Amino acid sequence: MDKYNLNEHPQAKKVFRKFGPLLLAIGGIMITVSIADFFITFGDFSGQGPTLMFLFPLSFPFLMAGFIMTSLGYQSALMRYQASQVAPVAKDVTNYMLDNTKDSIAGTVGAIVREIKTEPTSEAKKVERKPCPYCHEVPNSTAIFCDSCGRPLQKECSHCKHKNDGDASFCEKCGKRL
Ligand SMILES: [Zn+2]
Ligand SMILES: [Zn+2]
Repeated sequence: MDKYNLNEHPQAKKVFRKFGPLLLAIGGIMITVSIADFFITFGDFSGQGPTLMFLFPLSFPFLMAGFIMTSLGYQSALMRYQASQVAPVAKDVTNYMLDNTKDSIAGTVGAIVREIKTEPTSEAKKVERKPCPYCHEVPNSTAIFCDSCGRPLQKECSHCKHKNDGDASFCEKCGKRL
């Protein structure tokens, strides 16, 4: 039986609300009496011992039925209460998670876009520039000196102004000593 069926039967709910606590009370009394009887007669060896022990297992169906009926009878009220308590928090959590997700998605997309944008240029740089002849670090396109070891990356020929590699001894264009 679920709460929607129950909500369509207010009569059943009324019965549950009335008898649920009643059964709980009966079960409670039975279990209390049997336990009390057990402890009261425990040290008494002259008597025949606890006589109301049968109430102990007997109380379980009452407690069980009482608990189920009570929870069914008050379920919708309980659900409303829980909903009013939980809903704002759940909403906050959802918004919080959504915000985070939005941020991380934006971050990821941004990173991908940056990657796409920068990748060809960095590739072009690598193709365009030879690695430093001394430390083999790839310099960026405008570097005149290696940013890793500080040595000159190009030697301008004083004769023809051709830019030779930093470690060249002779101009590759005019053959003059650098
Ligand atoms: Zn270098
Ligand atoms: Zn030259």
